[in-house]
Amino acid sequence: MKNLIWFRQDLRISDHAALWHATQQAECIAYVALSPAQWRIHDDAAIKIDFYLRQLQQLKQQLHQLNIPLIVQVIPFWKDIAQPLLELCKQFDIQQIHANLEFGVHEQQRDQCFKDILKSTQITFYLHQDRTLFPVGHIRNQSGQPYKVFSAFKHNCYQRLDIQIPACFPDITPQIPLNLDIEPSQSTIPALADLGYIAPTLDIQHLWPVGEDFAKKQLNEFIEQDVVHYQQQRDFPALSATSQLAAYLNIGILSIRQCLQTLFQAQHGQFLIQNQGQRCWLDELLWREFYQHILFDFPQVSKHQLFQTKTRQLVWRENETDLKAWQHGQTGIPIVDAGMRQLMQTGWIHNRVRMICAMFLSKNLLIDWRKGEQWFMQHLIDGDLAANNGGWQWCASTGTDAVPYFRIFNPIEQSKKFDPNGDYLRKWLPELRHLDAKTIHAPYATSEQPHLDYPEPIVDLKASRLRALDAFKSLS
Ligand code: FAD
Repeated sequence: MKNLIWFRQDLRISDHAALWHATQQAECIAYVALSPAQWRIHDDAAIKIDFYLRQLQQLKQQLHQLNIPLIVQVIPFWKDIAQPLLELCKQFDIQQIHANLEFGVHEQQRDQCFKDILKSTQITFYLHQDRTLFPVGHIRNQSGQPYKVFSAFKHNCYQRLDIQIPACFPDITPQIPLNLDIEPSQSTIPALADLGYIAPTLDIQHLWPVGEDFAKKQLNEFIEQDVVHYQQQRDFPALSATSQLAAYLNIGILSIRQCLQTLFQAQHGQFLIQNQGQRCWLDELLWREFYQHILFDFPQVSKHQLFQTKTRQLVWRENETDLKAWQHGQTGIPIVDAGMRQLMQTGWIHNRVRMICAMFLSKNLLIDWRKGEQWFMQHLIDGDLAANNGGWQWCASTGTDAVPYFRIFNPIEQSKKFDPNGDYLRKWLPELRHLDAKTIHAPYATSEQPHLDYPEPIVDLKASRLRALDAFKSLS
């Protein structure tokens, strides 16, 4: 009898709940299903799938060193996984299946479907909590309800951390080699093109290297050198002051426990906050935690619904031209265009600029935030339903604990404040490179009209702000 470890968004061997449990009482084989049609429904970016496949190659090698063979199946839709997986379990005499719990509605349906099919068998399916610091479904307020406000949720997390920072799982030791009849084709990882994706034109391997070693090195360097300055510098997009670890957390190259343990390693794993940078980064990790718990507790988040029911009456503008200008960084508002071009050229945007771009689309253009959410998802390497939806609904003032609707960022003031020299703008907008730090934030706001190969603003910021305020005010 053997166990099967089913990898999903958790492509690593260290500190892995399901892998650790699967390997404790029996020999183990590993399994992954690649589901391109499902990924398309979820708008996963080609750059993210490429990242996933490259990491899967690394994982396969690591598993090989542990004598754990990996079986790979391409099954376009999750709803079709249960039967072939059951057949595989029968073929290899599997008694237990271990996987880490995922929180989206489709993910839960997939797992339920598999549980149902297993009812007539002796096989047991274990789902482990791994993606969050604290088990989903357990962080509750005094009335036993899930938190909807971040500060209260965070307070609860701080109390838990004070008792203990969640420990990492021990490393896995190599198992006795299995003598199994596995065809080489059963463990072949297809290329991106074989799954119907066009390879990104970016130098993605260089921009986004894979591997647990790389991710751990990046984490260590960030904690040793940068975290202390994080609070002062994280909002300045021209600086490389954030960890750039979201993509690694999202497909599980790194675990959230590893982040916390490394953050407090100088305090020997005790919850002792030594400086504001450390506190501030912890709070960002807890925003991640908050949105993951929201996704689990409020399944409507997975169904494109607005969190605050009264905002469901909002009438959004339908304007394809404005949407396209936003998507391609041609709005005439430099900070917005720089962010959208950074997205297209790297698969990533700085958090402050994500907020500015999202607020500009949902407030100044009054275009349905779900169109922006989708575009981000289709292009982000770190695209994650919980965080992306949370971020968009925050900016659009439709979400849980969102920004109040009347606090609309002025993108030009944000640009002056967080990119005072215009360095970030110059990097992504070569056509404005020659402009000085005063002019570059709003190149057409001068008495002499400059001749630029750059569009004039597609919207008047003052008038569009008032339009958004009116739209929100009219909601009862
Ligand atoms: P750091 O500043 O180093 O933060 C550390 C980690 O904390 C991040 O890696 C991430 O896991 C988490 N984190 C930080 N800020 C947030 C936040 N506001 N919400 C949730 N988690 C956070 N993050 C994603 O991981 N995937 C997304 O698809 C995503 N979409 C977003 C869309 C919008 C409109 C906005 C405003 C934010 C979005 N974020 C998303 C959150 C945030 O922008 C990114 O996590 C962050 O920019 C990633 O860079 P980093 O790894 O250097 O973060």
